[in-house]
Amino acid sequence: MNVHDLIGKSGKGIPLSRPELIGLLSLAPDSPETYAVMAEANRVSKELTGNKAEVHAQLALNLAPCPADCRFCSFARVNGVFREETRITPEQATAYAKQFEKDGANAVYVMTTARYPFGLFLEISREIRRNLKPETVLIANVGDQSLSNARKIKDAGYTGVYHALRLREGVDSGLSPQKRKESILNFQEAGLLVGTCVEPIGPEHTNEELADLILFTASINPAYSGAARRIPIPGTEISGRGAVTELRMAQIVAVTRLGMPRTVLGNCTHEPCTLGGIAGANLYWAEAGANPRDVREKTEEGRGETVQSCRTIFSECGWDVWRGRSRYFANPI
Ligand code: SF4
Repeated sequence: MNVHDLIGKSGKGIPLSRPELIGLLSLAPDSPETYAVMAEANRVSKELTGNKAEVHAQLALNLAPCPADCRFCSFARVNGVFREETRITPEQATAYAKQFEKDGANAVYVMTTARYPFGLFLEISREIRRNLKPETVLIANVGDQSLSNARKIKDAGYTGVYHALRLREGVDSGLSPQKRKESILNFQEAGLLVGTCVEPIGPEHTNEELADLILFTASINPAYSGAARRIPIPGTEISGRGAVTELRMAQIVAVTRLGMPRTVLGNCTHEPCTLGGIAGANLYWAEAGANPRDVREKTEEGRGETVQSCRTIFSECGWDVWRGRSRYFANPI
């Protein structure tokens, strides 16, 4: 494999193949070749967006011990971090969303744990929608859904969803990989755009697994793809597996960009960091309320970034930030 040939292929707008992705993922993260891959991914992301990144912002309607038991999530019942459910009121949810809108988030996300009552989610969503400007993009981050529920999400005023087939889905989570995929199809069938990501990456994941998931995300024609590392939740079994470095995550963010077709404008990383931003990431998230990577009930008092702090990190990488509606959630399906 010649890295410069692959960079040349990317320069012609051709997404890389599975063996090529595996080859790039196998390079040492601190090698000159990996830095060249990051530079190419950065170039592509900037070319596609006119050097304007996006900041999306997520609020959570609840936190609860979740029976889906995704081992990497602080809400997983098995992790025992949260023993009681707490829900925010429609007024609190609306206040968070309005603050994000005022801060200039390019899209506002509403998250729930998997078993949050769907009717209540719709009710609060409609309330949030009524209180936001019509042009504000609203995105749902909820559990697996039928086509009929996906249509209700669309009718409640959502433009899209965040939904991912996670690494080792069904092994490190209690969810069915097949259902995750079916839900993605249901969302798209209902007219919702789907943002996704290669996540949550840990040191145990092989280059082959990463390449397969990169290609899966490319296959669904997402609003954006990207890569995010697993944040170890203290005291949990999975935290013993450790974490990949920011540099390794940046490498995977860059390789993910080179595996996507050019119709996919967005390339996310989480948590926001300058190494990701110079390796082709053009989407970060601000967060408020509960956060599956945090043990604080209000992540704004913990790990969560604000819209402004995300902008500052982008600025440190030489990125400008898009003002207005998300362009990633404007692609035709
Ligand atoms: S990731 Fe979602 S579905 Fe899985 S345990 Fe956490 S809240 Fe539940």
